[in-house]
Amino acid sequence: MSEENISEVARKLELLKSRFKEKAATDIGLVRQRADNIRLGRFGPNDVAAAYHSLHRLAGSAGTFGFTALGEEARALEMLLKPLAEPSPELAPEQIQEVVDLTFVSRVQNLVDFLSSDQVVSQSTGAALLPVITEAATEPVIIIVHSDPDEAQGLAEGLKLHGFVPVALPSLEGAVAHGLSGVSALVVKDSKMLREGEALDSVCDTPPIVCVGAGDSFDERYALAKCGVDGFLCEPVDVPALADNMERLITERDESGSGRVMIVDDDPELLEHYGLVLEEGGLEVWRVNNPADILSALSEFRPDIVLMDVQMGDFRGPDLARLLRFEPEWLGLPIIYLSSENDRNFQVDALAKGGDDFLAKPVSDAFLLRAVTVRCYRARQLDKLASRDSLTGLLKHSVARSEINKEYARCQRQGEQSVVAMLDLDHFKQVNDRYGHRTGDLVIKGLANLLRHQLRKSDVIGRYGGEEFVVALPNCSLTDASRVLQSVCERMAGIVFHSDGQEFTVTLSVGIVPLQNYLTSDDAIDAADQALYRQKQAGRNGVTVGGDMRTTERTLG
Ligand code: GH3
Ligand code: MG
Ligand code: MG
Repeated sequence: MSEENISEVARKLELLKSRFKEKAATDIGLVRQRADNIRLGRFGPNDVAAAYHSLHRLAGSAGTFGFTALGEEARALEMLLKPLAEPSPELAPEQIQEVVDLTFVSRVQNLVDFLSSDQVVSQSTGAALLPVITEAATEPVIIIVHSDPDEAQGLAEGLKLHGFVPVALPSLEGAVAHGLSGVSALVVKDSKMLREGEALDSVCDTPPIVCVGAGDSFDERYALAKCGVDGFLCEPVDVPALADNMERLITERDESGSGRVMIVDDDPELLEHYGLVLEEGGLEVWRVNNPADILSALSEFRPDIVLMDVQMGDFRGPDLARLLRFEPEWLGLPIIYLSSENDRNFQVDALAKGGDDFLAKPVSDAFLLRAVTVRCYRARQLDKLASRDSLTGLLKHSVARSEINKEYARCQRQGEQSVVAMLDLDHFKQVNDRYGHRTGDLVIKGLANLLRHQLRKSDVIGRYGGEEFVVALPNCSLTDASRVLQSVCERMAGIVFHSDGQEFTVTLSVGIVPLQNYLTSDDAIDAADQALYRQKQAGRNGVTVGGDMRTTERTLG
């Protein structure tokens, strides 16, 4: 690596470190605030868990950026809070205050000092040589473990074009030393390393691993599956196929541990207890204490599943379930009863009234979390089948249109600016004709993944037709939208696809318009389609901005 490169890397490392410092300062501020509240007796049950989580985050990341003392002190404080943060209804506030005392608070102050004193200990395993993450944090970080730096670089360049942030390292040990907590997936070249190595044994939550290599025998694959590998690709590696493989694994991983649960229970302590257990396990929870609030809570929160008590004062769960099914919107929403009823007849009757399952009380925390997580995951999968396009995982045509219509209504209400865009691959018929339909599908998926990475979580992305996509960008100016989509066009044009030893690239045309300038959202979509058509006429590969008045139109790209 040249000196110039090394100083460039050092600059990027410094940049990363300063980002860490900003985040750490916020975390420490939150811990300090909560510790003060607890010590003074002004605290809620979430304060302990929140402080614990911030400390946990700090303890897990500070060392990576060289703040060893900060990491160790945060770990020590985290351990003190751990028994309190585990949901346990018997703990009295005084018991919590015994731990979070003046000494605790002053130790939190130590964290501030450790952060500002900046006693950086040099990193192990050649960290200064890492080509590190410089892109927006939302893009998934991929570690490429490869002993050949040139090949690693080639893969890294390819993956970058698909919106990943690749980091190339020579060994698994190096990857572990780098830290795997913010890493979305590992690509490992030497499968021997995985089969015989013990490097990953110490890592409790390994990201998905895709192996690349030459050995394509059943035995080889079986050995890899046995040691926990999630995907395998033969060399020479087809980067779009690799990107697609990783995209799927990352999405599955992201979704398997997440979910939105609404708990309906009239007992506030139980409600809080279940809520904490599930939140601790990574789920998003909405608590409904008064069953009469259930409809408004549903509209606002839109859970994956509802967990409902059976006996709630004047209300009974099965009757509430029946009431929910009055609304077509909630016909498919899974309702799980938390019930101590063991009477079979009662259960069958309750299910007939519109419930889906029972969890028998008393239920252990661990069982509750597992049972709910699995059901959330399944509910999301089913929902996805209904609303998502199977090739790309993007919203289906009708769902995308209805989401854009909702965004249109929101713009009208709040007087905000949003943008709608139509996208269409250029000369796509030729791609199919020359390289086959399957390769064409990979190109479509490539664009879908690119859009997912380059756009925000809040943006609506739909597959409108074969190789046509529709996008809505809430709270976005036309200038910003055209810049972002121009960059999508450039990235797309840079992706090299392979088919039967041939290489090719595909470009993309885009038309964008301000959503709120039209009488209906469908009119806006039509106008974006017309702008797209003009971009096609103007030579494709770029973005045309259409306005509400045709006179404001101009062509970029
Ligand atoms: P233009 O630049 O004007 O958009 O030309 P084009 O060739 O992209 O446009 P045209 O609409 O003539 O062709 C689109 C092609 O996309 C035709 C169709 O076979 C193909 N297509 C549609 N859906 C799929 C799909 O799911 N997979 C694949 N591989 N091809 C598809
Ligand atoms: Mg086309
Ligand atoms: Mg088309």
